[in-house]
Amino acid sequence: MRFLPTLLAASLMLATGAASAADTSTVIPAAAVQTATQLRDKAMADDTGYKIVASLTTEVGPRIAGGPADQRGRDWAIAKFKELGFDKVYTEPVTYPLWERRSEHGAIVAPFPQPLMLTALGYSAGTPKGGLTAEVVKFDSLDALKKASADAVKGKIVYIGFRMTRQKDGHDYGMGSAIRTQGPVIASKLGAAGYLLRSAGTDEHSRTPHTGVTGFTDPKQAIPAAALSNPDADQLERILAYGKPVSVKLDLDVGFNGSYTGANVIGEITGKKYPDQVVAIGGHLDSWDPGTGAIDDGAGVAIAMAAGKLIRDLPQRPDRTIRVIAFANEEMGLWGGRAYADKHAPDTVKHQLGTESDFGSGRVWRMSASVKPGAIGAIEQMAKVLAPIGVAYDAKRPGGGGSDLSQMHAKGMAALSLTQDGTYYFDYHHNANDTLDKIDPRDMAQNVAVYAAFSYMAAQAQGDFGSAPGAFSKDGAAE
Ligand code: ZN
Ligand code: ZN
Repeated sequence: MRFLPTLLAASLMLATGAASAADTSTVIPAAAVQTATQLRDKAMADDTGYKIVASLTTEVGPRIAGGPADQRGRDWAIAKFKELGFDKVYTEPVTYPLWERRSEHGAIVAPFPQPLMLTALGYSAGTPKGGLTAEVVKFDSLDALKKASADAVKGKIVYIGFRMTRQKDGHDYGMGSAIRTQGPVIASKLGAAGYLLRSAGTDEHSRTPHTGVTGFTDPKQAIPAAALSNPDADQLERILAYGKPVSVKLDLDVGFNGSYTGANVIGEITGKKYPDQVVAIGGHLDSWDPGTGAIDDGAGVAIAMAAGKLIRDLPQRPDRTIRVIAFANEEMGLWGGRAYADKHAPDTVKHQLGTESDFGSGRVWRMSASVKPGAIGAIEQMAKVLAPIGVAYDAKRPGGGGSDLSQMHAKGMAALSLTQDGTYYFDYHHNANDTLDKIDPRDMAQNVAVYAAFSYMAAQAQGDFGSAPGAFSKDGAAE
């Protein structure tokens, strides 16, 4: 009864055709709890996850979707799944608009000429050859821009300077990413020539701008859009404070270039009792290009792969299949997650439970779930196994399934949220400092322990977690 109104819960049971009586609660058998506890303890002392993310970031490096390393990333994932002993390895194609970054420069032209460290945002338009110079108009917030008149904006470069602060749950990214995605679209509609923001990032002293996608969906709507590093945003704001007109030059050789077909890469540990029922976990294989995509999201791919490998190493296969998905192009709009959900929507009910890791490599500290009322007890059993390694169960929050798997959750897959400590995540997120040295192997091990233990218990559960078409459509309202 936590998140599902009674009526919805009742229709859910009808939808799943739960002939095995409405009062049957889902239970994790005692033997499975014991094995999950052993898996947890083994994973805490295991470095498989760290080795996988080291391999990916070293051997493939930056892997922007559709870029030169896209195919190498897929080849790496296929080979890694095989090397780890997964039973089945395959790909599913994902097609999306190709966006390319070739070069990017920025400078203050007047009143105090000097270079600016910036990076173009995904789906930004390029500037004309030789660059674009225009006066900057600053807005204090996204709301202020929404209320602006076209007269104030037309032909100018809009700038918004929202500064994110460090938080364990990273909630400032809600506003930071809204300014990055919605801001350029609003500015374009008002006739702006370009768009600049203070990076959606929490580092203070590093001239490393943070990239990320905009909300442009139509190349005709796109204008040049870029993020300044925090020190460069400070500099621009100091210059603006003189009260004189400030003009900036953007020289961005970026833009849309047709379409590209990549793929989700999937590895499975085949269930021995119900091979067609799956526990779905994963991360996204693509990264932004300035760094090597260690925390975003090499870590997530590695956590899920390592969890699958630990389950594979048990004396027997689990009852249900463990499916690990390395998603294509999450960064430019959940393309891999949407393709997966579209393809697998008819199998929603066969998705036992799922969630994706995509918030770095900090330790998991909170678990929440969107499951049918009769499965809450099983979630509480999982929580008991995870509590000794620092995971607190929050019964009041829904489970969103993570970034790409949120799309499958929206179709009706029962889902968890396993919230990681993101205190320092946005120091390195989407910038050149997202490299392997930011990952603590012990934190990785804790994440692997969480994923291995919960996945195994979900695979062994007697009963389901309530996956059914549309089962969790009220989730958003519950939060
Ligand atoms: Zn990510
Ligand atoms: Zn990202």
